Amino acid sequence: MEHYDYLIVGAGLYGAVFAQEAGKAGKRVLVIDKRAQIAGNVYTKEVEGIQVHQYGAHIFHTNDRTVWDYVNRFAEFNRFTNAPVANFRGELYSLPFNMYTFNKMWNVVTPEEAAAEIERQRSAAGITEPKNLEEQAIRLVGTDIYEKLIKGYTEKQWGRPCTELPAFIIKRLPVRFTFDNNYFNALYQGIPKDGYTALVENLLGDTELRLNTDYLSDRERWNAMADRVLYTGAVDAYFGYRLGTLEYRSVRFETETLDIPNFQGNAAVNYTDRETPWTRIIEHKWFTFGKDREGRELPKTVISREYSSEWKPGDEPYYPVNDEKNGTLYQSYRALAEKEERVLFGGRLGEYRYYDMDQVIAAALERSRAELG
Ligand code: UDP
Repeated sequence: MEHYDYLIVGAGLYGAVFAQEAGKAGKRVLVIDKRAQIAGNVYTKEVEGIQVHQYGAHIFHTNDRTVWDYVNRFAEFNRFTNAPVANFRGELYSLPFNMYTFNKMWNVVTPEEAAAEIERQRSAAGITEPKNLEEQAIRLVGTDIYEKLIKGYTEKQWGRPCTELPAFIIKRLPVRFTFDNNYFNALYQGIPKDGYTALVENLLGDTELRLNTDYLSDRERWNAMADRVLYTGAVDAYFGYRLGTLEYRSVRFETETLDIPNFQGNAAVNYTDRETPWTRIIEHKWFTFGKDREGRELPKTVISREYSSEWKPGDEPYYPVNDEKNGTLYQSYRALAEKEERVLFGGRLGEYRYYDMDQVIAAALERSRAELG
């Protein structure tokens, strides 16, 4: 029977970066994945010349020069900058919250006027020490923006009232007193011109790969094949859910190809009211400025409506629910994981973390250094 230095469970970004580094260090590596394709949730597939983000939109952004240089060795990135639009009952607002948003909301013109309006609303709400997402949001942007652009979207996205959600979720979103519509505070940003699947393919290089291969249902056999295992699946599933189930939010996509060139004029439109059942619509062609790889205008368009739902076993897990209850349960699983001598746990599911792609890569590189020297 063949023998490997490392068995990597999961061909997503974390696993692929580790596979790349382990290969470079001269290790024998086998990657397995239960899905029929590589790239985990960054998987993209070409439809009508358009790279469709099959498991939700992924926009690469980072402040970490090392990570940016690293990914650029494996893919050519374009200069896409995320500038979503919020649709609240037909009223359109710029995101993230910036001078365009404040002007549309209150007719204010200067940063000073905008700050004064936010301060007025914050004081009226009497918030000093924010204890939850609602209070944090009102403290940052006042009650009007909270009511129109945050409350409905967040409650749809997380399936919980904003008063029961941790404040840090909203800290991802910048608030700017400038006219900068760039959603991310990142020095580097872009989309791989050939899609994320090609990026992951290049990371994997000639690493041995087996798809449609489930680790957990036959783990003794797989464990016997390698000295060490890097497991990037769900940590609670690894332990047979013996301490309980970690909660996730899941997402369902309704994707359609439309015989028109332009549906919404932007890659992302967030529907921030409570009544619209989807959270956002992604129009994938705008990630590449409406053009194919050769720079030709694309005649059709592909859109995905995104519906957030509670995860139940069997569904695809997307977002870890980082509230106190789940955080505590994860810590107990982590203690178990640390006792598994031959097995490393990594990535969004293995570490139960709301990881951005650049953080996944940084973490996988760090782990590679620690592990491979
Ligand atoms: N959010 C919001 N309104 C928006 C967009 C985001 O209130 O129009 C909040 C919401 O709570 C969300 C969080 O900000 O969960 C983070 O949003 P982000 O777009 O970073 O989430 P992701 O793209 O990872 O789903």
